[in-house]
Amino acid sequence: MTATDNVHPHEINKFGSMAERWWDHQGEFKTLHEINPLRLQFIRDHVSIANQRIVDVGCGGGILTEALAKNGADATGIDLSEELIDIAELHGLESGIQAHYRKISAEALAEEQAAHFDQVTCMEMLEHVPDPAAIVQACAQLVKPGGYVFFSTLNRKPKAYLLAIVAAEHLLKMLPKDTHDYQTFIKPSELCQWARAAGLELQDIIGIEYNPFSRRFHLGKDLDVNYIAAFKRPE
Ligand code: SAH
Repeated sequence: MTATDNVHPHEINKFGSMAERWWDHQGEFKTLHEINPLRLQFIRDHVSIANQRIVDVGCGGGILTEALAKNGADATGIDLSEELIDIAELHGLESGIQAHYRKISAEALAEEQAAHFDQVTCMEMLEHVPDPAAIVQACAQLVKPGGYVFFSTLNRKPKAYLLAIVAAEHLLKMLPKDTHDYQTFIKPSELCQWARAAGLELQDIIGIEYNPFSRRFHLGKDLDVNYIAAFKRPE
């Protein structure tokens, strides 16, 4: 990694230092495990997964990548954390679910394998990079014409500050402290603008809502905290 790369090394180190606990369903990444079926459902509502070549950008320990592979995709996860790539591979060996993992940036893969993938996913990652628009651009390059790109991220709204930082990190301890920095959160309008500039067309956008009483996540209309968007690269 060099200073000119589109990466915050402290973010990579932060996530990498927690790699061993990535697959602990009750651990620091419990939330990612809990929302995973919802993101899978949203993806499935738009595209088929089986026999599709899918790249998961910023895959971490492979929670979504492995779920895609389990559903029949030829799935590749990429991340810049060596520790997380190792954990993802190791978990694949344990589970017997085969996905491919590579330590490479989205931009470098886009140069190497432009228009190579049927679908691209990039979840909970854009808020951790210096130039998210460049990641959106790279994802648009990675997908074939006619394919879909899915992004999820946190909205820069006071409600997201209260729920994703004050409640989740400090009060309920659902996430480790300093997981998120409010300034880096992304408004849907910003995401859509970057996607449009990259030639992608918005198809659908949905909120990932949390009910503090049932302690469950569900998909809904409220985009104010966490949301997922589906974009299509025109034919
Ligand atoms: N997408 C996964 C993990 C989200 S956590 C999931 O939702 O389950 C954010 C991930 O982004 C971490 O694994 C971190 O290492 C990765 N990341 C941060 N900056 C990155 C960059 N510039 N390129 C690739 N991955 C990056």
